[in-house]
Amino acid sequence: MDKCYRHPDRPGIYFCQKDGNRMCEECACCHSPNIYCQHRSACVINMLTKQGELTSCAEKLIEERQKHDEKISV
Ligand SMILES: [Zn+2]
Repeated sequence: MDKCYRHPDRPGIYFCQKDGNRMCEECACCHSPNIYCQHRSACVINMLTKQGELTSCAEKLIEERQKHDEKISV
């Protein structure tokens, strides 16, 4: 199986048809949810994000910043 484009040690279980990237569960999110995506109707990532199965990119960014801040304050 192809690997996540950011994590070569993880399987890329989600495939973004627009960007052509395979992503692991942590990385999977629609990178341009407000821009028209010709694959949107067939995009598994977009669908799962809407259903609440995946965290949106915006939420992921917030979480990453919070983790980062925690590290600094420790
Ligand atoms: Zn990943």
